[in-house]
Amino acid sequence: MDQERVWDAVVIGGGPAGLMAAGELAAQGHRVLLVEAKPSLGRKFLMAGKSGLNLTKDEPLAQLLPHFGAAAASLAPIIAAFDAAAIQDWARGLGQPLFTGSTGRVFPEKMKASPLLRAWLAELDKLGVTQQTRWRWTGWQGADLCFDTPDGAQQVKTRCTVLALGGASWARLGSDGSWSEILAAQGVGLEPFRPANAGLLVEWS
Ligand SMILES: Cc1cc2nc3c(=O)[nH]c(=O)nc-3n(C[C@H](O)[C@H](O)[C@H](O)COP(=O)(O)OP(=O)(O)OC[C@H]3O[C@@H](n4cnc5c(N)ncnc54)[C@H](O)[C@@H]3O)c2cc1C
Repeated sequence: MDQERVWDAVVIGGGPAGLMAAGELAAQGHRVLLVEAKPSLGRKFLMAGKSGLNLTKDEPLAQLLPHFGAAAASLAPIIAAFDAAAIQDWARGLGQPLFTGSTGRVFPEKMKASPLLRAWLAELDKLGVTQQTRWRWTGWQGADLCFDTPDGAQQVKTRCTVLALGGASWARLGSDGSWSEILAAQGVGLEPFRPANAGLLVEWS
């Protein structure tokens, strides 16, 4: 890669958050580099698809928001801008027929993530997003981003960086949370990782 090139935006992390950020930036005409540590994009997203890929709950905003508990107030403007209907339009726009189950949860008819991921990556390609896999972000050198790559250390110049590095579960799929150490070393205060859901044991007949 041309070391002197200055990207409009570098998105680090090739999960759904990174793919969405890269697509939105590219759609606005920005030159975007999408970087992923693993050999392919969306590995955890594919795992999520193994249990059917629950995309959203088909509810109006006022009903949907309270599910986010204490985070509802801060997330409200974000969810209002991309609500349950918008998510379904987005997935259908990528050629994925959906169905709504009896509990209101919405799934791709194919009950897996791979067709959606394939269509999404093709869309990013069409938008001109440059993808770089097997590059692990390690921090900054001055204003430049640093990566460990199969060809040794690389530095990248950018006007804007989006960190979409995921949480700290399913490390083998890439989401190992080790990026928190990079930010902590820069003095960025972070909340400790906490699970967003939990396994339960229930007495059953
Ligand atoms: C079994 C299972 C079932 C699930 N089911 C559902 C479901 O039905 N519906 C639903 O909405 N969600 C589901 N989820 C959750 C969903 O997968 C996550 O919420 C989602 O993947 C988070 O997206 P993300 O882009 O924030 O992070 P991730 O998908 O974790 O992506 C982050 C990416 O960043 C990369 N990365 C990390 N550090 C670096 C670095 N230093 N340099 C470069 N790249 C780096 C990682 O390799 C990874 O690819 C499920 C998850 C699991 C495990």
